Order: sequence, then structure tokens, then C-alpha cells
Amino acid sequence: MIVLLFGPPGVGKGTQADLIIKNFNYVKFSMGDVLREEVALGSPVGKEVEKSMKQGVLAPDNIIFDIVSDFLLENKPAPILFDGFPRNINQALNLEKTTAQLSLVIDHAIEMTIPEESVIQRLVNRRYCPNCGAIYNLVTNPPRKEGLCDQCSERLIQRPDDNETTIRKRLQIYRDETKPLTDYYKSLNLYRPVDARGTQEEVFQRITQCLNGNRQ
Ligand code: AMP
Repeated sequence: MIVLLFGPPGVGKGTQADLIIKNFNYVKFSMGDVLREEVALGSPVGKEVEKSMKQGVLAPDNIIFDIVSDFLLENKPAPILFDGFPRNINQALNLEKTTAQLSLVIDHAIEMTIPEESVIQRLVNRRYCPNCGAIYNLVTNPPRKEGLCDQCSERLIQRPDDNETTIRKRLQIYRDETKPLTDYYKSLNLYRPVDARGTQEEVFQRITQCLNGNRQ
């Protein structure tokens, strides 16, 4: 069982992915988190993807495919939630091929949707904890103590790609490369749109309905 979660940067995918794994029996795979870890480690993969990430463009598909197939082979029997993968049609086609080879089935491709103006505001105010991955928003979901993680007291940081120039670039990449996944997954009857406006709980309720098989 495989669920795909996609949507523009800043729509709240990471937050919803965390709620899904807390409440359902999925193993989460966040491509952005995996790549950030590789960059932090200074690994060969990290060195290759660092520039693309800083610029807000997609990392090369061949690197992404290798990471995904290793992950699928290791976690094959578990229900898997992909956050931030696939991000273009080529990646979606490759995922089809790999899942077919491993006799795995994609159940839902959930797209979180939001007006573009809102995501810029969300992203410039986003902070995250480099230790436990908790995500905050200085306006809508601030930490209890300024600058510190509620869960582990680590100092919160801003992602280097959460500045307005890079955000606009990432939104353009989303429109050009990722948005075509909507029609692709519609054609496979896997497409589930979810309105990402409202509170985290409201959005999670909508996602839960999809996962339980009730369309919006
Ligand atoms: P995210 O944390 O999902 O916003 O991803 C941060 C950055 O990681 C993106 O702007 C890309 O540079 C890279 N990235 C994440 N997922 C992918 C993917 N599936 N394909 C290529 N690059 C990716």
C-alpha cells in the first residue's frame, strides 16, 4: 500500500505527513528530509544535490530514483507514505515501473491545494527544528519559548531555501514540473484533491476521509 502526498511548497505536507504517521500505520518517506540529511552529512549525494536545493530547483532524477528504490526494497511490506515524491512525470513513471516490479500498489495520490499568495506568507514565517524535525510558523503556530523547539528545546532554524526569491522559483518549478501530476493521477483514477486551507486538524480530517476511502 502506497500513498503519495504532493502539493506546492509551504502547503503543509510535512505537518500532515507527521499527523498521518501518528494516526495510521505508515512508514514515512520525505524526500526533502532525506536530501537535507545527505547535505548535512556532506555525503557524495549531498554534495550533488546541495546546489539544486539552494536554487530551489529539482535534484537530478537519477539520484532520486536510486534513493527511492533502496528505500522501497528495505521497507517493501510496510504501507508507505511518500512526502514530496514524485515531483515530475518522469519520477511518476519510474515509480510505476518500480512498484510493478515489486508487486506494490499505489492507492492514493493526494494533492494539497492552496492559493499561491498564502504559501509565500507561510514559508517566510516557517521555522523548523534541526534535531527532531518539528515544524513551526511564527504567526500561526509559534513555539512556546521564542526561537526554541517545544519538544526538544533545540534552537529553531530557517531553511536556507525559505527566502522569497527561492520560494518564487520553487513555486514556478511546482507549476511547470509537478502540477502535471494532477492530470496524470486523474487518468489513473488515483487523484484525491484536498483543500489545505484551515487549521491543521481540519486539513487532517479531510485527508483522513481520503485515506478511509471517502472522496471529498
Ligand atoms: P521539500 O522539503 O519537499 O520542499 O524539498 C526541498 C528541496 O529538495 C526541493 O526544492 C528540491 O531541490 C529537493 N527535492 C525534494 N524532493 C525532490 C524530488 N522528488 N525530486 C527532486 N528534487 C527534490
